[in-house]
Amino acid sequence: MTLDYNSLLMALAVSATCLAVTLLGSWLARRTETFLLSCTLGLALIVSGIVAYGLYVDNPAKWLGVAAFVLFHSGFATVWGASYQFRTGRLPRVRIAAFACVAMALSIPPLVAGYDGLAFIADNGAIATLLFATSYQYWLARSEAPAPLKGIAALYAVTAFSFVLCAAVLVSNGKMVLGAAPSNWAEDISLAVCIASMTGIGALSLAIHQWRQASLHRLEAITDPLTGLVNRRALFDRHAKGMMGPATAVIVFDLDHFKAINDTFGHSAGDRVLKVFAAELSAHCRKGDVAARLGGEEFAMVLNEIMPGRAEIVAERIRKAFEGREIYIDEGVTKCTVSVGVASGLSTPMAFDTMLNAADKALYAAKRAGRNRVELASHLHSVRSESIRTGS
Ligand code: GH3
Ligand code: MG
Ligand code: MG
Repeated sequence: MTLDYNSLLMALAVSATCLAVTLLGSWLARRTETFLLSCTLGLALIVSGIVAYGLYVDNPAKWLGVAAFVLFHSGFATVWGASYQFRTGRLPRVRIAAFACVAMALSIPPLVAGYDGLAFIADNGAIATLLFATSYQYWLARSEAPAPLKGIAALYAVTAFSFVLCAAVLVSNGKMVLGAAPSNWAEDISLAVCIASMTGIGALSLAIHQWRQASLHRLEAITDPLTGLVNRRALFDRHAKGMMGPATAVIVFDLDHFKAINDTFGHSAGDRVLKVFAAELSAHCRKGDVAARLGGEEFAMVLNEIMPGRAEIVAERIRKAFEGREIYIDEGVTKCTVSVGVASGLSTPMAFDTMLNAADKALYAAKRAGRNRVELASHLHSVRSESIRTGS
């Protein structure tokens, strides 16, 4: 049995339509991923282009050729835009339009002027360029999900190469006027490659979508939604195993009279104060440090690889910076202060829990001593001698 070119072309249109519908379905399930919608739109344009081109194969009227070029070039430019949007989160509307216009400007005038051979060389060249550019975007994004993204980049590159072949065969034939849709071995190969890679690209697009969702869920599970800091559970998970040595410190913070801010200005003003304090903590984090929200208006910071005496300096800086901060809320401006407890690691390594308890006690002492101050965990020594005595 032999399948004619047009039947294969329609097979490609059908598989591209299925892919577009699947991507649209994934987008409907999670509308934040608008790159799926852009991809769907690009595919819809390409499918319409395939239909127009199929008609052109049977009846090479200029207007059908022009329609196919317009649809193909805007479709492939949109698919490129979707890949850019996948990587950066922004849809480059102007560049999509510019790329499509350049491609049309290169291919449509020769077609209209009767030089269809030249027109198809430009058409294949433009599509190949857009596909290589798409491949490059996924390649640049590969660190997010290496296996599927490298796979997608490879499939786009192979497809692009098949269009290069089509252009190369037309160039070597050297005919400026064809009078019909190009038909040669490169066209057949290109069509087969398109059908095969369409399936692969579809499957991998869904895979990277799932991959992204899963990592988003992982991130949500360890993040405090209000402040964006690490949450209590993640802080404990991170430090549950392993002991903390002399170059480490745990600092705990509790905002002073925070309830009064809520009572006076309302809960959303309180939230605003929490965010401002979280930003202050983040600003004082160096590489390797962790700032977390333990819950309510209580925060913690774990410092790693610090010099002796540095933790209290960091704590005091944060206290002072926050004290001076004017916090803008609906009613105007408010201020807030924070009490701080610092537990520095000792030469005998201690569990994170022990350090946190010691810092908590110091914090309590800071509250009793009048708030808005930093206290050091002197009782850490007694905790330590206790643990030495009990052998724990
Ligand atoms: P102290 O100086 O002794 O720490 O007094 P305080 O008022 O800060 O402490 P208290 O524990 O009495 O009040 C903490 C308040 O924090 C009570 C609770 O309603 C509020 N709170 C807890 N979580 C949130 C939150 O996510 N947003 C807001 N706006 N308030 C919260
Ligand atoms: Mg509290
Ligand atoms: Mg408080």
